[in-house]
Amino acid sequence: MSRNLSRAESCYLKRIYTSTIEDGRQITSGDLAKMFNVKTPSAIDILNKLEKKMYIKKEKYGHITLTQAGYRVAVELLHAHRVFEVFLVEALKMKSNEACEVADCVDHVLDKEVITRLCAYLNKPEKCCHNRAIIHIGCEVRRK
Ligand SMILES: [Zn+2]
Ligand SMILES: [Zn+2]
Ligand SMILES: [Zn+2]
Repeated sequence: MSRNLSRAESCYLKRIYTSTIEDGRQITSGDLAKMFNVKTPSAIDILNKLEKKMYIKKEKYGHITLTQAGYRVAVELLHAHRVFEVFLVEALKMKSNEACEVADCVDHVLDKEVITRLCAYLNKPEKCCHNRAIIHIGCEVRRK
């Protein structure tokens, strides 16, 4: 993925997506600081970077939401993350929490073509090892 996202930025985008879209819960910079076990100013620092890239918006009461661009990137990141988790758990027999940690380190840097092929190889799994849905948008293997 050539979006120049840091690991932290990627983790925040994924977390904002799972909280606000999948779980239907509002999320603030304070919540994110708690989830990632950092002080609120550090969380705000990451959020400012994401806001500058126009991936998130700060709404009333400090609620954070994804922009359309942020939503697209989060879906793509979570596709890579969860497909990679399935690979680590099914093929390499890793535990799901370990798989999640490894996936966090690579989901934002893995080449899209590699993930697309890995996804096809795994028969487009519907869920990750945490029972979270995998959305396959633009996930078609290009034939040459
Ligand atoms: Zn995970
Ligand atoms: Zn998962
Ligand atoms: Zn896929």
